[in-house]
Amino acid sequence: MLGAICGDFVGSVYEFNPTKDPAFPMAIPGSIWTDDSALTVAVAEAIMERPDAPDFERHLVAMVRAHPWAGYGPAFRAWALRDEREQQDSWGNGSAMRVSAIAWLAPGMADVATLARASALPSHSHQHGIRGALATAVMGRAFLEGASPQEARSLIECLYGYDLSRVPDDIRPGYSFKVSCRRSVPEAMCCVLAASSWEEAVRLAVSLGGDADTQGAIAGGIAAARFGEDSIPPALADKVKETLPDTFIDALARFDVARSQVSLSRSDWGRLERWHEADFAEHPADESGAKALAALQAMQDALAPSRSAPNAGALGVSAPRKVSAWLSKVLDRRG
Ligand SMILES: [Mg+2]
Repeated sequence: MLGAICGDFVGSVYEFNPTKDPAFPMAIPGSIWTDDSALTVAVAEAIMERPDAPDFERHLVAMVRAHPWAGYGPAFRAWALRDEREQQDSWGNGSAMRVSAIAWLAPGMADVATLARASALPSHSHQHGIRGALATAVMGRAFLEGASPQEARSLIECLYGYDLSRVPDDIRPGYSFKVSCRRSVPEAMCCVLAASSWEEAVRLAVSLGGDADTQGAIAGGIAAARFGEDSIPPALADKVKETLPDTFIDALARFDVARSQVSLSRSDWGRLERWHEADFAEHPADESGAKALAALQAMQDALAPSRSAPNAGALGVSAPRKVSAWLSKVLDRRG
């Protein structure tokens, strides 16, 4: 959660003044927390208030009303300020930038998926909006549960069809301001995978030259899960906290207590697989069979060396055999 907030702060000055240089000056005057931080707090508050049935819509709306000028997308802001609201089917990356707390607070991996989907639905019910939220929260949790970068990559490629084979230097030249989950979430993930620290992940994500604060929030949230919140430069974290409203500081303190009660030992990722199987039956996916097969192949390649490792089978989905069978079923249904 703090990782996403600090990433948002770092990227904020580059949202409309893009940089392509990873060595950009960080936390310069003008850096602020924005909508990404506010809605990250709102999602965490909803779960902390009622872990079994969070009211995400009420908390998202309350946050917008409390801080109406935090830089929300116009359509989202208008939706939140309306007296009567219907579910919105956005495919924007607003669903992904706000989920980081879910990775820490959910009891297990399948609960991460349930909460991520529920957090997206009020405003981002488009399949790609939901998928962005799911993939971001799941990747964060995978790292918290000790996944290697290769495992995390395979899991996300297999389940969500994102291409995480690219490195930031390949993405950066042709990249520009993208607000869709599909064109921003995998790119932020590639930056986390390529990095060796929280700061490097955020520098890479912001310097893609896109939706910089949101890229910073998505990458910063996942990177805090991968490298630990302690890896956020303390001077930066202190500076960011000085700018946050008291209500956010209070939420961060309660988040620290809440997450300390969650076991982050490797949960049964097979439950995640079954969750997606049921989810697919209900909401047919649109990814092409070829892409899913390519993802499966990447996963099998990734897993092959680890099968002889001491903790073989650590991916926990009985992969590759079981994942292979699952994907075959998915492809059969697609015809
Ligand atoms: Mg923003």
